[in-house]
Amino acid sequence: MTATKTEAATGDVVLEAENLTKHFPVRRGLRDLFTRDRKAVHAVDDIRLTLRRGRVTALVGESGSGKSTVARLLAQLYSRTSGDIRLHGESVTMHGGRRFRAYCRQVQMIFQDPFASLNPVHTVRYHLTRSLRIHGRAGKNAAELEQNLADLLSKVQLTPPERYLDKFPHELSGGQRQRVSIARALGADPEALLADEPVSMLDVSIRLGVLNLLRDLKERLNLAILYITHDIASARYFADETLVMYAGRMVEGGDSETVTQHPAHPYTRLLIESAPDPDRLDRVGDPREAPEDQAGGEPPSLIAPPTGCRFHPRCVHAMPKCSTDLPPRFELPIADAQQSHWAACWLYEEGAAK
Ligand code: SF4
Repeated sequence: MTATKTEAATGDVVLEAENLTKHFPVRRGLRDLFTRDRKAVHAVDDIRLTLRRGRVTALVGESGSGKSTVARLLAQLYSRTSGDIRLHGESVTMHGGRRFRAYCRQVQMIFQDPFASLNPVHTVRYHLTRSLRIHGRAGKNAAELEQNLADLLSKVQLTPPERYLDKFPHELSGGQRQRVSIARALGADPEALLADEPVSMLDVSIRLGVLNLLRDLKERLNLAILYITHDIASARYFADETLVMYAGRMVEGGDSETVTQHPAHPYTRLLIESAPDPDRLDRVGDPREAPEDQAGGEPPSLIAPPTGCRFHPRCVHAMPKCSTDLPPRFELPIADAQQSHWAACWLYEEGAAK
């Protein structure tokens, strides 16, 4: 039996993915019917991650790198091609039914677009009541339900609750809609939240408020949070651990401060160099300031991904073995023995010239 939320200690493992892989078959054309070719999009390969109580893990990468696919696999919205997902150490294999609902109670997802994820013809009260009922937390009578609805809105700082309960999504701001989406996820009383770009569609001015809310929930409810983003700067601010993905594979990971301040993998360095930096504005246009990228920013095809290191067509440090051999994770030296830092790059093989 699993420990209750109050008993569980910060750092306890909630959800793990081991060698998680997802290939989407490509629909075959007429000509392909006469060949044995079975093409597939290699959306994610060999993903390993661990979500712990009271900690935020950021999954960072550019569009199409497979981050959202990882979240959907963990939410059981996609079936996996191979690999394992473990909740409290137990492998999870289910597609619908009672066990699926039990899993959803513990692992909830927050989507990128709060307007699309809320039904425009229903009020906040409807969305939250439905979540509470589905997860058996509506209470025994109308008074208890009303109290539970008010508690949910208070948790996401939409107060006083009566101001919001009977509003429709179009009557709320983007930030308020995302808070309602978060409240709906909390209706299940989950242990893990999978937040897929939760602030990328919000005005810049309200992003920080929603990130601060998630951080507050992480601490108060001891939640494990997966934070998916293309913005590595926000990962540094918000996440305890940062994992970097490129073309469906993880390329670097470690505590957020180390990964963002001392990036090891050439792709992570490129991501950081590409982020807007006011200190570099006066040097825009200077070729010496251009990020190191051999392919002009073009990510590879995931139907036929590059062999070896998938970053090799863009990497200015590529060596002959980079195009043939897949680099394993190399542990990197780090001052704090409690932390870890690794990079999947041949530059860190013992004896390699950096
Ligand atoms: Fe560049 Fe080779 Fe490292 Fe890949 S393994 S990032 S190609 S140096």
